[in-house]
Amino acid sequence: MSIVLRRGLVVGLSSTRVADVLVRDGRIAEVAPRVEAPAGAREIDAEGCWVGPGFVDLHTHLREPGREAAETIESGARAGAVGGYCALVAMPNTEPALDNVALVAYVLERGARTPLDVAVAGAITMGRAGQHLTPMAELAALGVRLFTDDGTGVQDPAVMRRALDYARPLGVRLAQHCEDESLAGAGSMNEGAVSGRLGLVGRPALAEELMVMRDIELVRLTGAAVHFLHLSTARSIAMVEAARREGLDVTCEVAPHHLTLDEEACAGFDALFKVHPPLRTADDVVALRRALRDGEFDAVATDHAPHSPELKDCAFDEAPAGMLGLEHAASLTYEALGAASCDPLRFFDVLSRGPARVAQLRAEDQRVRLGAHGGDVRAGEDANLTVFDPRAHWVASRAALQSRARNTPYDGRPLSGRVTTTIARGQLVVHEGQLQ
Ligand SMILES: [Zn+2]
Repeated sequence: MSIVLRRGLVVGLSSTRVADVLVRDGRIAEVAPRVEAPAGAREIDAEGCWVGPGFVDLHTHLREPGREAAETIESGARAGAVGGYCALVAMPNTEPALDNVALVAYVLERGARTPLDVAVAGAITMGRAGQHLTPMAELAALGVRLFTDDGTGVQDPAVMRRALDYARPLGVRLAQHCEDESLAGAGSMNEGAVSGRLGLVGRPALAEELMVMRDIELVRLTGAAVHFLHLSTARSIAMVEAARREGLDVTCEVAPHHLTLDEEACAGFDALFKVHPPLRTADDVVALRRALRDGEFDAVATDHAPHSPELKDCAFDEAPAGMLGLEHAASLTYEALGAASCDPLRFFDVLSRGPARVAQLRAEDQRVRLGAHGGDVRAGEDANLTVFDPRAHWVASRAALQSRARNTPYDGRPLSGRVTTTIARGQLVVHEGQLQ
């Protein structure tokens, strides 16, 4: 199958220019001002749109095995494709947790049946219980490059230190959900004036910042690499910026909801706005957006967390934490980067190139099982491409979601910019916003 993308703004590594892109046999075959379409090729008008490397999500909860009523690998991949994603990293807090070879192999095998590349993050500790390390070397041999107990952070610093000592020679990265449980306690939203007004128990910013601080010091001690998941406070990103300036191997991500919603959203006691770490202050949102524009975040990562309606439809302090992310992340990232003033190179950096680097999914990482992501847009690269129309205006709709779950906090929100086309492994998976 051949596809020609006509006259899009091609956002390459060395240049951004209007050109045609020919996709053939799973690869980018040609990028030129005018490409001759082979017989039978599908021609797509991309004029006015951005054409860049397909998005990579570092943080997707696919819920399989164990909670298939909320999402499956197959339904999550559909949601991802509509959102412009060509690769997803499946998080290991399934039931049971992805802490052994059989379960990781199962998710990889199911993922291979979808049109996208599904990578797996393995658990750091058995059952994510925070005590005994998983067989990280065996999981790394299957291609696992990220390990995390996400849902919770590794609470015990001695366990985290041992995990880092194991990770370093394997060349893998530990990803931390930063919340100190003794400080976060049973809190259901950000601790501050708003939680006081609403009479809800809060989770202090310090619960996150203390673990960021601790893990930066553990990276310094061990020389291993840490990725900070969903940073949500101004001080967290400031500490990571300082650690990077020192040359420590730390990377970090921000979630679309922490860039676009603040703690005031909890005022209606609607559990759709409950998430861990919680929505923070308006000042934190400003600081996170500034850091995103300055290139301090390696990635925008969705923390796509599907929950079945029965679970979310209850009292704020009793509901599970988490919200959907895959289908609106690109538009929210565009908004956070300034919409009309959004730099297309930065946009594809945080949605594709940065996360592909952290997940080791690039061609130079020489991964064998999955395709290459986050590369240049030039002949010879694997054809994982996303087309984004920055001129589009639309309204987020719960009813239109491909995800099995319905827990988006954005229903009815006007959005700017939209993914129109997703080409994954050389196949046209989404066109004009519709699954093919
Ligand atoms: Zn998390």
